[in-house]
Amino acid sequence: MYEYVETPVFEETELFARGIGQSTDVVQKEMFTFEDKAGRSLTLRPEGTAPICRAYVEHGMHKRAQPVKLWYWGPFFRHEAPQAGRFRQFSQVGAEVLGTDEPSADAELIVLLSQLLEGCREVSVRISSLGNPRTRSAYRDELRDWLGAREGELSEPVRARLDLNPLRAFDSDDAGTQAVMAEAPKLIDRLDDEDAEHFAAVRSLLDDAGLAYEVDPGLVRGLDYYTRTVFEFESGVLGAQAALGGGGRYDGLVELLGGSPTPGVGWAAGIERILLAQPEPVEGPPRGVFVAVAKPERREEAFGVANDLRAAGVAAELEHTTRSLKGQLKQADRLGVRHTVILGDAFELKDMETGEQREVDGVQEVLREVA
Ligand code: AMP
Repeated sequence: MYEYVETPVFEETELFARGIGQSTDVVQKEMFTFEDKAGRSLTLRPEGTAPICRAYVEHGMHKRAQPVKLWYWGPFFRHEAPQAGRFRQFSQVGAEVLGTDEPSADAELIVLLSQLLEGCREVSVRISSLGNPRTRSAYRDELRDWLGAREGELSEPVRARLDLNPLRAFDSDDAGTQAVMAEAPKLIDRLDDEDAEHFAAVRSLLDDAGLAYEVDPGLVRGLDYYTRTVFEFESGVLGAQAALGGGGRYDGLVELLGGSPTPGVGWAAGIERILLAQPEPVEGPPRGVFVAVAKPERREEAFGVANDLRAAGVAAELEHTTRSLKGQLKQADRLGVRHTVILGDAFELKDMETGEQREVDGVQEVLREVA
């Protein structure tokens, strides 16, 4: 059972700077940071995991039966150039499992996200393992040296970040850099035995669950806190911003934020992108009633008719301007309603599809007609 948790929309900047990592794009370029009246540096949350780990420590959740399983959703903020599927304020839903390093927690979360994304089009999953900080640091040095010898073939931004974060070269969309990275040594081949076993166990559970995935040694998540399992779900219909959601294990994060050593794993998914990846909506039959007024003295009555219809569960629109009857019928057409009530010399009901118009007794007869 995942328990719902809400953390504040902003936190101390330090939480993200430390938690996400100084060398990441998010911390270097994408945070909305400001000072409050007391001169404290605050940041609109760019992600949900560091705040949840902060809350886990602050609220003594390590004293509960482990693991602690949490979920959240809400607004997040990143200072990025807006484009299709990329916004400066967006919504994420996320899930986290703290207090266990068992591969079954990783696999459970990946299966959970795949179930959440079941209705989306052209979904695929990539997974990898980033090992532990020791192997990762040794690998980072190895990769930096290896890329240093091929600097001329790399794009300018990748070269500029070589010292700080050579792994991000895997994310480059520059063709020359991609060609180099295809040949580069891979972290997944440098895992120590325990991490390799952990990754094999996660894969085996995913196989048991019948989940199709691709192992992608070039999968590098943009945040520094990941260890061991990382994964990303994409949709083929989203264009450049294809990521629907992703996450991974972050076994050192709680400790980094001042708690006792506590393993954790989780994911976040972008709600707007989930909606963009849904099948094209199928238009349902027209429904609802427009209440038109052909005689100004019947306006008040029209208000009552719309209220009565709504109280009976029928979607009703009322004429709020002083359009002519012709204008009102045009408006009813634009709204796509099935019927229009016309209050003129009589109480009439017009079927917008057939065009048939006849006198009716009142609201009760309208309700029988539209039921
Ligand atoms: P991340 O923590 O960067 O992996 O983000 C998790 C998910 O949030 C991504 O897979 C996207 O679906 C979504 N997301 C991240 N940044 C944005 C953004 N600027 N606009 C819309 N959705 C985003």
